[in-house]
Amino acid sequence: MPLHLVDHPLVHDALATLRDATTTPQTFRHMAMRISLLLASEATRDVPTVNIQVQTPLGPAAGRQVRDGVIVVPVLRAGLGMLDAVLELIPTARVGHIGLQRDEMTAVASQYYSKLPPDLAGAFVLMIDPMLATGGSAVAALDLIRKAGAADVRMICIVAAPEGIALVERHHPDVHIYTPVVDQGLNSHKFIVPGLGDFGDRLYGT
Ligand code: URA
Repeated sequence: MPLHLVDHPLVHDALATLRDATTTPQTFRHMAMRISLLLASEATRDVPTVNIQVQTPLGPAAGRQVRDGVIVVPVLRAGLGMLDAVLELIPTARVGHIGLQRDEMTAVASQYYSKLPPDLAGAFVLMIDPMLATGGSAVAALDLIRKAGAADVRMICIVAAPEGIALVERHHPDVHIYTPVVDQGLNSHKFIVPGLGDFGDRLYGT
């Protein structure tokens, strides 16, 4: 199972602040950005590059530049809290959006929006969704991304539950998942425990 547990101390420092119930939305957004930068840099270790040459003040130097063809797909709305971080690292990335809404009673995800860039087939796709809980929305989003032709897909989340990982593994066994933690599990409302609460509500103060 391609599960990558990101163990960097700075990731866990930011995660502790995100988990803290007293963290304000302003600090929450800041820490979401910081942890996403660190997670995205881990998830893009093998992003395709081209060899280039630049001129330093002292002469030519060989370098590498990220190749075009990176696509980032935030799952609305919580995934938007991670988007700026990925675009900060890869400003040439194109962005697709998938809107999924979780029924508060059943926790079943239904799609209300989807707009993906064309030519996903050869792209390096990063799906960003901070809370991998039941896995229902992750699988629904991955189904859409795959149906659009993407072959090379990885997912970045901030907290994962064993149930969500198992569901993604069952439906999309080749999708690499990057997460700092796998929490205990889900409560009766399908929230991750201990988790950090509703990521979108904490991000936007709703
Ligand atoms: N979505 C959230 O924002 N939090 C959870 O714990 C589960 C899903």
